[in-house]
Amino acid sequence: MSDATRARIIAIANQKGGVGKTTTAINLGAALALEGQRTLILDLDPQGNASTGLGVDARNRDLTTYDLILEDTPLAEIIRKTSVENLWIAPATTDLSSADIEMVANENRVFMLKDSLANRATKDFDIVLIDCPPSLNLLTINAMVAADAVLVPLQSEFFALEGLSQLMLTIREVRQTANPALRIEGVVLTMYDQRNNLSRQVEDDARETLGDLVYATRIPRNVRLSEAPSYSIPVLEYDPASSGSQAYMNLAREMLDRHLATA
Ligand code: ADP
Ligand code: MG
Repeated sequence: MSDATRARIIAIANQKGGVGKTTTAINLGAALALEGQRTLILDLDPQGNASTGLGVDARNRDLTTYDLILEDTPLAEIIRKTSVENLWIAPATTDLSSADIEMVANENRVFMLKDSLANRATKDFDIVLIDCPPSLNLLTINAMVAADAVLVPLQSEFFALEGLSQLMLTIREVRQTANPALRIEGVVLTMYDQRNNLSRQVEDDARETLGDLVYATRIPRNVRLSEAPSYSIPVLEYDPASSGSQAYMNLAREMLDRHLATA
């Protein structure tokens, strides 16, 4: 990393639920960690699926991202090591579902996460991946304000691109106000099915509209990806040879190559 005092922060966002945000956070995180990047997944979804999927028991989440944002608890006190070397998680619980409302009252409301990550709080990491909730609410805005870039998982399904224009509008608004330097890291096609016309159609449309922003790597629909969370491990540990594992390793490498090329 060029700036050793803090990590590169990437918000994984899409206001649609079930498009692969959490799956991407867990498995891209694990893949980056295997590539030697010290990686933190910051769970910003009250459902806490990334936390559960990485083995943080719901009964064992004393300090969470809620405390980070609303109680000024230092990041170092809430992070947990995962089963993967170089991979940590800042867990979330349902507490976070009320955070949105509590944050509205604060005049600093869109900068609360950014402030929590200031003062070299992320200096021990190379990359922080923020798993956003399925909404363009204040939590997601906080993630975009704190982030260097947004990574967008795009489900290879009908209507995928319609939701995207709303997301792009929000990114533009954040740029015009609280975070002018916010970039789009890239758009990754998820749950891709080579044999399905619709998948190919979504891919063609996405590449035509978004050009190089769309990663060459596509994440295939792979049952191993949906099974791994019930074992509390990333697919790279559950089934390293699976197509899902291979795809997330390829995505990690593509991301790192791109970054090195533009650094
Ligand atoms: P989001 O975080 O955007 O709501 P998830 O990552 O939780 O989406 O994915 C929604 C569901 O789809 C989960 O059950 C997950 O296991 C499954 N899933 C995600 N990506 C894939 C994939 N590439 N292949 C098969 N199942 C997937
Ligand atoms: Mg999720």
